[in-house]
Amino acid sequence: MKKGLWILLCLCTVFTGGYAQKGKKKGSADNVATEYLDRSFGVYDKLQKQLWSTPELGFLEVKSSGFLQEHLRESGFTVEVGLAGMPTSFVATYGSGSPVIGILAEFDALPGLSQDTVPYQKPVTEGGNGHACGHNAFGTGSVAGAVAIRQWLEASGHAGTIKVFGTPAEEGGGGKVYMVREGLFAGVDIVLDWHPAPGNAVSVESWTAIQIIDYTFRGIAAHAAASPDKGRSALDGVEAFNYMVNMLREHVPISSRIHYVITNGGEAPNIVPEYAKVSYYVRSPNREVLKGLVDWVGQAAEGAAKGTQTSVSSEIISGSYEKLYNRKLAEVVQRQLEIVGGVKYDERERAFAEAIVKGLNNDLSTLKAAEVVQPLAEEMPSTGGASSDVGDVSWNVPTITFGTAVFVPGSAGHSWQNTASGGSTIGTKGLINAAKVFSLTAIELYTHPKLVSEVKTEFEERRGKDFNYVPLQGDRAPALDYRVKK
Ligand SMILES: [Zn+2]
Ligand SMILES: [Zn+2]
Repeated sequence: MKKGLWILLCLCTVFTGGYAQKGKKKGSADNVATEYLDRSFGVYDKLQKQLWSTPELGFLEVKSSGFLQEHLRESGFTVEVGLAGMPTSFVATYGSGSPVIGILAEFDALPGLSQDTVPYQKPVTEGGNGHACGHNAFGTGSVAGAVAIRQWLEASGHAGTIKVFGTPAEEGGGGKVYMVREGLFAGVDIVLDWHPAPGNAVSVESWTAIQIIDYTFRGIAAHAAASPDKGRSALDGVEAFNYMVNMLREHVPISSRIHYVITNGGEAPNIVPEYAKVSYYVRSPNREVLKGLVDWVGQAAEGAAKGTQTSVSSEIISGSYEKLYNRKLAEVVQRQLEIVGGVKYDERERAFAEAIVKGLNNDLSTLKAAEVVQPLAEEMPSTGGASSDVGDVSWNVPTITFGTAVFVPGSAGHSWQNTASGGSTIGTKGLINAAKVFSLTAIELYTHPKLVSEVKTEFEERRGKDFNYVPLQGDRAPALDYRVKK
């Protein structure tokens, strides 16, 4: 997922071991978590690079999920695997009593964005998968944070439970939605979430609700030159459909997003295609508006099939809600983010980052964004943009998302630059910072029950009394093969 603005203000370097939580004495119980992270840089650098070197697509993340599970087990967590019909999902638990804090961990990669950790385009495998959304750092940072929290729970003897939700297939598979639907978040008081970003900030955006739908057209095969009159082209159906959608997009709310790729357009020009498929993403900041858009797109598909004498069927692949914000929780996380500070490059990392910035024709001053923490902005209702299955979690448990500077500022989301940066020590510094924010936030919540109840009160008010959760994925089973080439 691509995040919006991320900005600045900074603090200290992270992996020199010199960091101490502001106002806390080194060696005190409160510092156990951050000190653990300071001395574990090498452990998590290795773990994130294991994931980065094994980029697996949604629902196929067997090894990546396994690396994280293994570390959690070794760190004293009880790990349940293969939940909600997804073999690569897991929930890892440590501690007892309340509050129960959940941390989200993602680990799926993207197709076609393979890239080495160099500041120029150089795929590791031509056309291969790559961690261009930084989920290698995401999963590792979340796990590191949870293990650090475990250190504190043990040292302080405080009551409290920490859970890591290993959520597969964020990139279009909607893994979290199935985990919500299955009731796996029941009993969780607060969920903490992060995402690798080109800066350090708490997310105040509501993102967009999304529906992902595959449309399959079927026609009649025939020799395209000798007997075209006997054929009916499924590809014509797809093209007529796309054309209609490209016309209707003028008449939908400007914050809507509709995009598609043709995943099957036939096999050879001399055969009238009897089978063609197009995959659509339809998005809106409001899930009720989204339903209207999806209906209209569906009507266009029907119309296109009628006009080309083909048939069409559709399959919902996944869908997720827009995000429900929580100001109280944002303020708690902001305080911890400011304590932790931004990412400070060493000489080698700076040379790498500068080369990326120059390649993008940006000014070197943009790099400042990695070092500083952006002040907490006002809540920002979505005006379009990306989506995440975190949305569904946020309507069921109070949830907040923040970002740390895993990527070089100025890089686009889902870019080779992000694959490169996220697999380097810059990525590790960013994820260690995220882990520190997780641990400090959790300690704050464990030791201030009033904060937890204030967050929950705000959540109930925002969600409304009459809220009834109906997943946009309906009752379908996880589309475990959505990334398998057919
Ligand atoms: Zn992404
Ligand atoms: Zn992402």
